Amino acid sequence: MRRMSASFGSRVQNEDIWRVVSIETLAAQWQSDLQFLVKVTRDSDRKHVHQLQAAGLGNVEWMDACDTEIGDVVVTTPHRSQAAVLYRPSDLHHGLQLTNRCNSNCLMCSQPPTPQADDWMVREAVEVIRHMGSSPPVLGLTGGEPLLLGEGLREVLDHVHECHPSTRVEILSNGRLLANAPLCKAVVDGLQTPTTWLVPLYGHVDFLHDFVVQAHGAFEQTLAGLLNLQQHRQPIQLRIVLIKPVLDVLPELCTFIGRNLPFVKEVALMACEPIGFALANRELCEVDLADWQGTLEQAARQLKRHSVPFLFMNTPLCALPTDLHGHAHRSISDWKNVYTPVCEPCQLKPDCAGFFAWHERGWKPAKTIPITREEYTA
Ligand code: SF4
Repeated sequence: MRRMSASFGSRVQNEDIWRVVSIETLAAQWQSDLQFLVKVTRDSDRKHVHQLQAAGLGNVEWMDACDTEIGDVVVTTPHRSQAAVLYRPSDLHHGLQLTNRCNSNCLMCSQPPTPQADDWMVREAVEVIRHMGSSPPVLGLTGGEPLLLGEGLREVLDHVHECHPSTRVEILSNGRLLANAPLCKAVVDGLQTPTTWLVPLYGHVDFLHDFVVQAHGAFEQTLAGLLNLQQHRQPIQLRIVLIKPVLDVLPELCTFIGRNLPFVKEVALMACEPIGFALANRELCEVDLADWQGTLEQAARQLKRHSVPFLFMNTPLCALPTDLHGHAHRSISDWKNVYTPVCEPCQLKPDCAGFFAWHERGWKPAKTIPITREEYTA
């Protein structure tokens, strides 16, 4: 989340959701049930806002925050003179966090869960959805575990459909609660929002998966959840984070997926984000993927053999064997995506996922080796 210093007109008193507009675009966008912050660059803009307020517009205020963009949806924190961007139309990736609670405790969780009630996060997400002035092609919904909202998750999905019917939603969920068939039905039956479920699987036998997610019984529940999703014809992307205990069995896990879960849309193989619990479990999570290229190739062979599509995420191209480069995606959200000085001469930088901004505090998923176009085509 991008936070920035900001000053506001006096009607911004609380933490609240607003759409950022320019004085020129306000008239075309104004709706009585939304709140608008006019980004001011001149005194005349501020005066214009005061005139509109005097004329009775109660949902318009000015903001001075040079780092915001027109169209941003922000949450204001006036007592700290701050605004935080929750949606930026110009970003490549868009996501909303629905809860910080979770029923698992994954070894490499990038956002360690907290137990407190946090229903305000759902209300905030719904307000952001209402205030988005453009419809992103894809909107990620994450937690914690979004299914802890129960049928409340369906309300969020229905809001997306109502406000942004062209938007596809991707829900990052451990899938365990979908083992409950009535809950699964309540969330997906008759759903009009195009939805893909992103569900992690870390082992081909129960104790491996349960160890990685630190929850007894999770493997059985996740498999039952996947089968329930399949019954409702919901698209599924399986997610595999490449930490040591998973890499140790990756080819076997991919064979298991090919044999038992051939209905999944694709498998995403993801480098670990060096933050959160991953830092506390560094001995299990820090790997140099360049040392595991043979394992990645074996896993890819198994998935190809069973015709299961796959992709690599968060993975610098120099960590991958050349013949797998075509499967790599630029997947790291814009605000946390960086490259190292070593990347500057690299010919593959425009296509490369690069690194998480916090790799310097943690680690890089591989030694960075700039690649020239000549080497690449040789
Ligand atoms: S050197 Fe940098 S830009 Fe080039 S492939 Fe490696 S990580 Fe990507």
